[in-house]
Amino acid sequence: MTVKLTIDGQPVEARAGQTVLEAARAHGFRIPTLCYHKDLSPTGNCRMCVVEVEGWRGLQAACVTEVQEGMVVHTQTETVMRDRKLNLELMLANHPMECLTCEANGDCELQDLAYEYQVDVPQWGFKGNRYPVDSDPNPFIHVDMNKCILCRRCVLACAEIQVRDVWGVAQRGFDEVIVAGAGTDLLSARCESCGQCVAYCPTGALTNRMEIGVGRTYDLEKITTTCTYCGVGCQFDLLVKDERVVGVASNPEAPVNGMALCVKGRYGWDFIHHPERLTRPRVRRYLLEGGEKPKGHQLDENPPRAWDWVEVSWEEALDLTARKLHETRRQYGPDSIGIFTSAKCTNEENYLMNKLARQVLGTHNIDHCARL
Ligand code: SF4
Ligand code: SF4
Ligand code: SF4
Repeated sequence: MTVKLTIDGQPVEARAGQTVLEAARAHGFRIPTLCYHKDLSPTGNCRMCVVEVEGWRGLQAACVTEVQEGMVVHTQTETVMRDRKLNLELMLANHPMECLTCEANGDCELQDLAYEYQVDVPQWGFKGNRYPVDSDPNPFIHVDMNKCILCRRCVLACAEIQVRDVWGVAQRGFDEVIVAGAGTDLLSARCESCGQCVAYCPTGALTNRMEIGVGRTYDLEKITTTCTYCGVGCQFDLLVKDERVVGVASNPEAPVNGMALCVKGRYGWDFIHHPERLTRPRVRRYLLEGGEKPKGHQLDENPPRAWDWVEVSWEEALDLTARKLHETRRQYGPDSIGIFTSAKCTNEENYLMNKLARQVLGTHNIDHCARL
């Protein structure tokens, strides 16, 4: 059902059940938000999206107000702008002014709105940090609740997307604070270090530990890629500086996963430039030297030298593999061979392995690690 309303003097149509914020954004009107994110349930607690509705008492939070037939909405009146600015002042009154060294600088929604609304940072209220600046031992997530604006996006991201319910709200009034579990630490509260809460946090309260100090957001090039870890095919942006990968950021346009990633996709990128990364094939020494499989076991305390891995060229490795497959097939038949493919390969690579198994080797023994 369609609902007709007016926003800033312009007649618009919206779907019944849509909020004023959704309808306004769909028609290109700018309404600022902090606690709202389209992926999460609206809570209406930051009050940045307030609007005036003719005939209604007081200002309304557009993110939790449904459109109604004939509604007349104003998004930029003097009262609205003054109220939004006051809300920002109240948030900043209890916020450390550490933009110069804050990891979120340049990528902080609070900072952006303070600039847009030209907020004079109030000198009253802030009496220094109330919490340790690195209050959680999680190896991937840096927690600084002094910069928290209590928007609750982390709580919702963890509950609604990751379904872990790690973050919650404790205390009341001025003492209100976001805590992991019953005031423990993230890992004790069953956090799986997926980093969803970090991705949705609009300030520097939650940041990625591995990215601290590596570069401002405007120094980093974003290159969209597909995760190599499993077959789900999540997309994200690699953050690149001086031709080195220095981090990973969610890409909201990712078709499979949206902003969501698991710990491997978000934080498992340090293998890329690791000095011990294998970049060339290796084969067992006994295969290279044409000897028999050694009697001793490779896991023995002192395994025979024949078990050593030896680095070879791709040509040598491929020749050896082809020769061994050929010999095995000739001696024991095609069904003596099985092929096991990988979720780290692309669809196309897995398809080709299927062709290799059935058409070249002549066996149906082909399977995939994703079925284990
Ligand atoms: S969270 Fe944002 S506003 Fe606060 S110090 Fe960091 S960059 Fe500045
Ligand atoms: S990292 Fe993931 S599981 Fe852990 S608190 Fe954040 S959203 Fe929840
Ligand atoms: S930690 Fe970040 S996402 Fe969570 S309530 Fe605070 S500002 Fe919002």
